[in-house]
Formats: sequence, structure tokens, C-alpha cells
Amino acid sequence: VKLTWHRQNLRLRHRFATSQYGVDEKETIVVELEHEGVTGYGEVAPSRLYGQTLESSEAALSGCARLLGDDPFALDTILRRLLDTWDGQRAAIAGVDSALHDWIAKRLGVPVWRLLGLKRPSVMTTMTIGVADADETRTKVDEALAAGFRALKVKVGTDDDLRTLEIVRAAFNGPLLLDANQGWDPADAARRIRELAQYRPAMIEQPLRRDDWRHLAELREIDVAPIYADESCERVADVVKLKDVVDGINIKFTKCGGIRAALEMIAVARALGLGVMLGCFACSGLAIAPALAIASLVDFVDLDGHLLLSDDPFPGIACREGIETLPDTAGLGVRPA
Ligand code: MG
Repeated sequence: VKLTWHRQNLRLRHRFATSQYGVDEKETIVVELEHEGVTGYGEVAPSRLYGQTLESSEAALSGCARLLGDDPFALDTILRRLLDTWDGQRAAIAGVDSALHDWIAKRLGVPVWRLLGLKRPSVMTTMTIGVADADETRTKVDEALAAGFRALKVKVGTDDDLRTLEIVRAAFNGPLLLDANQGWDPADAARRIRELAQYRPAMIEQPLRRDDWRHLAELREIDVAPIYADESCERVADVVKLKDVVDGINIKFTKCGGIRAALEMIAVARALGLGVMLGCFACSGLAIAPALAIASLVDFVDLDGHLLLSDDPFPGIACREGIETLPDTAGLGVRPA
């Protein structure tokens, strides 16, 4: 089993910002796993928030390449072996997990979603409106609505939240998700949430710092909208700890390590009565496709990373009126342009 990788540069259509950071372009890593004439693909989209960089991911990939063994079908054994050494580099593991799934599905001649026993995904994704000034917010909302999106996610957590939501709600009446990206202070988070109630949020994501679980649990009592954990919830062990703290969790492959780990998190979350959302970072269609393969299992889909690009190097995902689908071809359903 041969593993190779290279960086790819992604250009965003608009500058994208949250309450914590902003980017105009993004570099990710394309992983190729080759065995017996079949190539499986995966993408690594590292995040500094979780101690991952392009360099640390490449170091992990070098290590993983030596641990793959000679049977890509032995997914569980391989991924356990990789996690034993590279537990802190789950963005890289997610790239390998994707490449293994793509390889197996191509080898068997089935789509990844079918390999997993799931129906073909046809899910409504939210389009994310990043932190921006009033004019740019208006432009982004108009663009999203013109493209047919029927659910929006708005980044909040700055002093301009009310102005931003006023602009959004003036143009849009549908499901509105809010994400504070840890931006609020525990002393006034409750007041802010009550203030935002007039904009009828469908849910509120990560209002407080990721380690402030005690105050998170208190916000849930306000009952304006379900509270979801994103930065507070990286992997399956966190899901267990978040029972009775939040109403739901946001799973991202960069945090948890890919399809295999995400399915575990979903099973545990459901057993604990938690809602589930699938999210992403800016990335190409290659990182979105494996998440979309399991998206029929979750309550909220926020898989718009590739839609924020001016040009997707891995086309194949269809998005019409905000509904994303994968083709019924073998593998992930995306290929290099
Ligand atoms: Mg988030």
C-alpha cells in the first residue's frame, strides 16, 4: 500500500471570518493511497485550534505511511494502529480514513455511502455568512438566497451581532443557525442570547470558551434555542462528557479523524439523546464528499467548505437550491478536475 501526498492551494470567493480569525485563501493536503492499481483519495484540512498545521500533518502522514500494512480492507485495524501513534493529528488520520474508504469502495465498485449501508445523501446544507461589514453581509446574504440556499448559518460573537442579524432577517425568513465560535463572555452570554431570541435562531453553536462547560450547561436553561458544542467536542470521549451540558454536538472530520470516528460519535450522541450536526472547515469537495456520505444520519448539515471556493479542484458533488447530493459512481464521487 503506497501513500503519497501534496499540498493544494484553495482560493476563497470572499474573505471568510469568524469572531476568532479570517482567511482569504487556504492550503490543504491531498492524500493518495494506491494499491493493486486502484487509487483512493483523501484531504487533510488542519486547524491550529486543535494543534494541527500543514507541517505536523505531513509528519503524521509520513508516520502513517509506514503503518498501513498490506490489506486496505482491514480498516479498523489500520486506523487503530494509526491512532495509537498519531492521536493528536486527527486531520491527517481523516485524510487516510477517506482514502481507505474511497479505495475499498472503488475496488468493490460501490459508492462510499452504499458501502456504509446508508441511503444516497440528499441533504439541505446551510450556507455560512462569515463576520463582515454591513455591505458585505448584505452581498453574501443576497448571493446565498439567489443561489437557492434555504438555511443560513451566521457567525456571531462580535459587537455587531444585532446589526448583522437585522440585515439577515430583513431578507430571509428560514432556518437560521448562529455560531459564536467561543466569542461570548460567560458574564453576558445569557443576556446576548435573550437579545437574539427575536431573530428566531434554530440553534446556537459554541457560545463560550471551549473549556467553560459549567457555564455552557447554564445557558441551556434559557431555552431560546438548542445549544450545540463545536470547539468543546473533538472526539467520542467528549460526547459522553457533554451529556446534560449541551443539546447537540458539531462533528468535523478534522477534529475526530474521519468517517469511522464520526460514526462512533453519532452512535454515542444518539444513545445519549443529543442532536448531531456535521460541519467543516474551508476545504475542497474532496474533504466534503466523505462527510456528505454519512450526512443522512444527522440533524443539521453545514458542509459548505467547497462552496466558499472560487474554483473546486475536486468536482462531483451536486448542489441545487442548497440540496447536496453525491453521484452513484464507485468511491467518494469526486475526482481531480
Ligand atoms: Mg462552529
